[in-house]
Amino acid sequence: MGKYIGSSCRLCRREGEKLFLKGTRCSTHRCALDRRAYSPGQHGNARRVKLSNYGLQLREKQKLKRIYGLLEKQFRNYFAKAARRKGVTGTALLQFLERRLDNVIYQLGFATSRREARQIVSHGFVFVNDRRVNIPSFWVKVNDEISLQFAKKGKKNVEENIEASKDKAVPAWLEVDKSHYKAKVKRLPERDDIGFSVNEQLIVELYSR
Ligand code: SF4
Repeated sequence: MGKYIGSSCRLCRREGEKLFLKGTRCSTHRCALDRRAYSPGQHGNARRVKLSNYGLQLREKQKLKRIYGLLEKQFRNYFAKAARRKGVTGTALLQFLERRLDNVIYQLGFATSRREARQIVSHGFVFVNDRRVNIPSFWVKVNDEISLQFAKKGKKNVEENIEASKDKAVPAWLEVDKSHYKAKVKRLPERDDIGFSVNEQLIVELYSR
């Protein structure tokens, strides 16, 4: 599956919002959005036009997609799965995204960004119920036990990440023992567990056109 390899800051500037895609570097370096608070590209600094309803829906979808580091096709697949679920489609979509293993590793504080968490998973450091899982899109379930096992270099990186995210709250649906690199899924994530602002109803409206 392909991945976006361009500048993360460019994505934040396009959405006009800090999405914190670079982990610790978002706080240790001067944020690009503080320096250039307008869209990237030749006409980015031109007067912003008021967005149409469609424009608002599109931007909200792009924002959510970028927060989780997904490409359009992957994101659309999640939406299709969510739409087939009983209940509120927007909530199901957020729940599917939150349950991704790379997101869980990020939320637990073992990585400072979802991109970094994805690398930790793909490098084979993550075990779910004692089985190695190197698929970032793997969905965790209730009572899954997650652990990290690594060689010396990987361990040093994760320890630095734990230190860097020590003030970040772990969502209530997860339980973590950072000193032993272990965690457990207590329950499935709910709407209130989403730690950033998003209007998922706009995305539902966009895909229902
Ligand atoms: Fe976004 Fe972080 Fe870059 Fe700021 S520094 S624009 S929050 S990725």
